[in-house]
Amino acid sequence: MKKILILGGGFAGIEAAISLQKNRQFEVTVVSDRDYLFLYPISIWIPTHKKTFEQAKISLLKLQRKHRFNLSIDTIQKIDSQKQMVFGDHQNYSYDYLIVALGAHKMKPQGHEHTLSICGNPEGSMAIGKQLDELLSKGNGKIAMGFGGNPSDKSAVRGGPAFELIFNVHHYLKEKKLRENFELTFFAPMEQPGAKMGPSSLKMLDKMFNQYNIQTRIGKKIVGFAPNQIQFEDQSTLNADLIMFIPGATGHAALKDSDLPLSEANFIQIDDTCLVKGTKNVYAIGDTAAIEGPDWRAKQGHLAEAMAKIAAFNIIETEKGSSKRKGYQKHLSIICVMDTGKGAAFILRNYTKAIIIPLPIVGHWMKLGWGKYARWSKLKLIPRLPGM
Ligand SMILES: Cc1cc2nc3c(=O)[nH]c(=O)nc-3n(C[C@H](O)[C@H](O)[C@H](O)COP(=O)(O)OP(=O)(O)OC[C@H]3O[C@@H](n4cnc5c(N)ncnc54)[C@H](O)[C@@H]3O)c2cc1C
Repeated sequence: MKKILILGGGFAGIEAAISLQKNRQFEVTVVSDRDYLFLYPISIWIPTHKKTFEQAKISLLKLQRKHRFNLSIDTIQKIDSQKQMVFGDHQNYSYDYLIVALGAHKMKPQGHEHTLSICGNPEGSMAIGKQLDELLSKGNGKIAMGFGGNPSDKSAVRGGPAFELIFNVHHYLKEKKLRENFELTFFAPMEQPGAKMGPSSLKMLDKMFNQYNIQTRIGKKIVGFAPNQIQFEDQSTLNADLIMFIPGATGHAALKDSDLPLSEANFIQIDDTCLVKGTKNVYAIGDTAAIEGPDWRAKQGHLAEAMAKIAAFNIIETEKGSSKRKGYQKHLSIICVMDTGKGAAFILRNYTKAIIIPLPIVGHWMKLGWGKYARWSKLKLIPRLPGM
C-alpha cells in the first residue's frame, strides 16, 4: 500500500484524508499539532459567548474513527522532499505522496504582543472574550478592531472576521444595555478595506459603521502597537482598552527550513493541480499554498476543501496511470455568509460577478446551521450536500 502523509488537521488536511480514505487503497496518515479540527468560521461567536470553545472543535480522534486514517499528534519542524522525509518533534515520517496542509502563519508587526487576534491560535478567541468580560464588568471602555495585509501577496489578508466580530460586539453590548458606554473603532491601513468582496459590499459596510455608530480609522499605515495603543504612520495614535488585530498572513515557519519552492510571501508554490512546483509527489493545499489568480483571490475554507478534493483526485488518477487531472483555478471565488450579529450578508465574488444579498435574521441562523452541518457531516452523522 502506498503511504500518503498529510501534514495538518484543518479543513484542507481532513478533507484530503476523507477523500483519500473513501478509496481504501492507501495508508493515509494525518499529522497535526492539535488534537482537534477548529471550525474557525464559527469562532467569531466565542468572545461574545454565543458559542463555547468546545463547540468550535471537532475531535480528530472521532474523525479518525469514522474515516479510518492514521493519526499522529506531533509538531512538524521540517520537510525534506529530496529524501521524502518529514521531521516532527516526536518522530520522523517517510511517504510516497505528501500533502502539505499546515495553514498559514501571521506577520508580526511591531508590538503585536499588545494585541489579541481572532485569526491566530484558536485560544485567542477566548482571550478576547476574557478581556471583553473584564471591560463589561468595568462598565465602559474603548474597543478597536482591525486587520492588515501582506504587501507581497494580495491573497494573504483576512478581513471578514474583523467585521463580523466588531458587529457582534456591538450587538452584545446593546443586549447588555452598555453600548453607549463604549467607543468602538474599526481600523485598517488600506483605503478600501473589504474591497475584495466587491463595490456593493463596501457600501454595505460603510452603511453599517454609520448605523452602529462605529468610528473608523482607515487608509493610514499602521507602524506598530504599544500597550493600549495603535500607532499610525502619520504619527497619530488610537487608544483602546482592547485591541483586536488580524495581521496579514505569511508562510508557515516550518517551511523556512524545508526544501519546497516558496513565493515571496513564503507560501508553497503550486501548479493548477496543487502539485508543488518541481516535485512529482508533493501537494500543497489550503492556506499554506501560494494561490495565483485575480486580485480579489482569497484564502478561504471552501477553497481549502476544494483543493483537498483536487489533490486526492489527482493522486488517485496518477496511481491509476491515467492522465486525467483537476485544477483549483476554476474554483477561485469568495463565498461567505458574513455575520452581523443579528443577521448576515451572503457575499459571492467570482470571475463573472460580485454580489451581496442582505439576509436579515435568517442569515445569522444560516451561519449557525452551517457550523452544525460541518460537524455532523464530517462525523458522518448526516450526508454531505453536493458541493459543500
Ligand atoms: C476567525 C476566522 C473566520 C473565518 N471564516 C471563514 C468563513 O466564513 N468562510 C471561509 O470559507 N473561510 C473562513 N475562514 C478561513 C478558513 O478558516 C481558512 O481558510 C481555513 O481554515 C484554511 O484551512 P487549512 O486547513 O488550510 O488551514 P488551518 O485550518 O489553519 O489548519 C492548519 C492545520 O495544521 C496544523 N498545524 C499547524 N502547524 C503545524 C505543525 N508545525 N505541525 C503539525 N500540524 C500543524 C494545525 O493544527 C491545523 O490543524 C476564517 C478564518 C478565521 C481565522
